[in-house]
Amino acid sequence: MSYLYYFAAIAVMIWSMIVQANLKSKASKGSTIQAASGKTANEVVQEMLSAHEIYGITIEHKAGSLTDCYSPKEHMIYLSDTTYGKSTITAIAVAAHECGHAVQDHENMLLYEIRQLLAPAAGICSNLGPWIAIIGYIIAAYTSQYSDTNIGFTICNLGIVVYFVAFLFYLVMLPVERNASSRAYKDMKAAGWVGNDQLSMAHKVLRAAGDTYAVALASSAVTLLRLLAIRGNSRRR
Ligand SMILES: [Zn+2]
Repeated sequence: MSYLYYFAAIAVMIWSMIVQANLKSKASKGSTIQAASGKTANEVVQEMLSAHEIYGITIEHKAGSLTDCYSPKEHMIYLSDTTYGKSTITAIAVAAHECGHAVQDHENMLLYEIRQLLAPAAGICSNLGPWIAIIGYIIAAYTSQYSDTNIGFTICNLGIVVYFVAFLFYLVMLPVERNASSRAYKDMKAAGWVGNDQLSMAHKVLRAAGDTYAVALASSAVTLLRLLAIRGNSRRR
């Protein structure tokens, strides 16, 4: 079991490096090519939102890279340094993707709603769950010879339940992200924000970004497997 875990952990680590390198390469390549339409990312956001009859969302610049995001609470779409006011293929693809999230929100897409529900807890659960499980395992190791009730095992289970919330978040996030990208691509193609011969480049950028969420899910699954193995050990004691 433990060999399997290390093998999976290393495989995910290598995959993660490949995906990150691919994203960097595709995004920077797309950043050097101006979209044939000459439209800026900001114009694309406005056009895509009004095509879906979504009003009242403002666009703001957020300094930094990869800071693009749609904030449902603030009714804002934040565009990063490489997106805001830019007409490159990457800028347009990223802007359309963020609009894709606004459309999901507008249409009350179930998976999107679930993601939003889990989002505030996901970070804490992801950090806390493994620690609770490990503390449970340690308690199980030190108390089993004195007592019949395995409190350590119970704490270990609690840690797994806590971590499972984070795992669910990653599980839901992947289809939500893929869906936002496919909405972006569909609208990009229909509206001609990038030239027909530029569509495949835009698609590659979206796909490369989407792969990072597949890695996040796989990495979370590996952690969950590890915690389940720890649980098995703490029960045996
Ligand atoms: Zn997204």
